[in-house]
Order: sequence, then structure tokens, then C-alpha cells
Amino acid sequence: MARPRAHLAAILGFISVIAVYLPHTAFCEPPDPHAAARWLMVLDQLKARDITHPKVLKVMGTVSRHLFVRPWLASLAYADHPLPIEEGQTISQPYIVALMTQILDIQPGEKVLEIGTGSGYQAAVLSYFTDHVWSIEIRKTLAKSAAKRLKDLGYGKIKVKCGDGYFGWPEYAPFDAAIVTAAANHVPPLLMDQLKMGGRLLIPLGNTAYYQTLTKVTKTPKGNEVQHLLGVAFVPMVGKILED
Ligand code: SAH
Repeated sequence: MARPRAHLAAILGFISVIAVYLPHTAFCEPPDPHAAARWLMVLDQLKARDITHPKVLKVMGTVSRHLFVRPWLASLAYADHPLPIEEGQTISQPYIVALMTQILDIQPGEKVLEIGTGSGYQAAVLSYFTDHVWSIEIRKTLAKSAAKRLKDLGYGKIKVKCGDGYFGWPEYAPFDAAIVTAAANHVPPLLMDQLKMGGRLLIPLGNTAYYQTLTKVTKTPKGNEVQHLLGVAFVPMVGKILED
């Protein structure tokens, strides 16, 4: 009497294994080999610090950061530090991307301008919060490769242009928020001009060769409200800003 039961159990076990794995092997994309590293990044680097915004945590756990770095650096993509990208530039540490996104707290429908597209990663993260993301990159090869990467990965709604972000993007102003991901020694005045009243700008301000202070500037009817947030180290903003 025990035998048929044992057979039945074996058959049911086999069917359940097939039911779990067949959809992956036959019908779905192969499982993402970086999923565990990304999940650990969210846990150890973001939740363990002060990233509490549920959607920021979700998005950071979703975007395939390893596809924004060169293939031989993919295994380091979820580590707790910035990584080099082309042209001597860097993709920021995941924590800094998450923190800046949390501080900006973009609402659906808001218009966001990023200065310093780089790899396109920060722009991709922002695109989960609103469909209206514009990003400017001064280096032609980076602008071109980031635009292609974003399109290929399904982030085609993000508009990227090659240009000097010092001048903003007046055609699409006013913006609800602006994020500068390169170090500056002052706030480019046109970026403030292109913000809506109540709009906020995040920028690493200070000595562009060493460390800066991540600074939030909010445009209010009484003038600009400035909050100095934390020490950061970004690659320098170049172009017109160096002439001022
Ligand atoms: N946000 C990027 C990383 C930015 S690195 C990412 O997620 O990968 C800083 C970038 O700012 C570099 O690519 C650099 O070329 C760009 N940059 C520097 N000065 C600039 C300027 N004046 N206008 C636009 N981009 C600028």
C-alpha cells in the first residue's frame, strides 16, 4: 500500500519542479544573475542607511545598473562606490543616486531636468517617478551612448541632448526639479530661472577638485532657500561654469 503513495509523491514533486522551472527556461527571460547583488545593495547600502522612500527602494531594486557600466565592471555594479565610465567620468555610488532621488521626491507628472547624463543611470531611475525627464550631457560620445543605451533598455521617453547644462534647456522650462550630477562652485543662474516657483534644485557645491556639499535650493517667492545636506565628491562640471 505504501508504494503507490511513494510514487504519487514522487510524481507530484516532479510536476512541481517542472511547474517552477519550465516557465523560466521555456517561456521567460533567463533569471537575472545580478538580482541577488541588487537586492543586497538595497538592503545593505540603502535601507541600512537613511533611504526610507518606498518607491526609491523599489526602483533601485529594479534598474539594471550593471547595464550602465562597461561589461567588465558589471560584477562591481552593485558595490558601495562610484565606478568609472567612459571619458574619465563616473557613475555615482548607488547610495548617492538613491539619496538624491529621495530628496527630490519627484511626483508623477512633474518635469525634471538633469545636468550630467553620464551613463544615463540616474535619468533611468528618475524616469520611474515621472514621464518627463530631460537630461543634458556636455561630452558628445557620452551623450550619444547614453541616449542609445536608454532607448535600447526601454527608457525611450527620456530626452537626452548634448550641450552645456549651464544654460539649462529653455525650450522645456519651467521645471519642477533640477539635479546637477557634476560638481560646481556656484549655482548656474539660468537653472534657477528655469525652475517653477516652489521648484527645487540639487547640486554638489564647493571645491570642484576635492569635496563638495550636496545642496538643495528651493525657489520661493521670498527668494532662494538653501539647505546644505552632506559632503560628496563629484567629477567637475565643465564648460561655461569655468569662465565665471
Ligand atoms: N548622472 C550620471 C553621472 C554623472 S558624471 C550617471 O548616472 O551616470 C557627471 C557628468 O556630467 C559627466 O558625464 C560629465 O561629462 C557631465 N558634465 C560636466 N559638465 C557638464 C555640463 N556643463 N553640462 C552637461 N554635462 C556636464
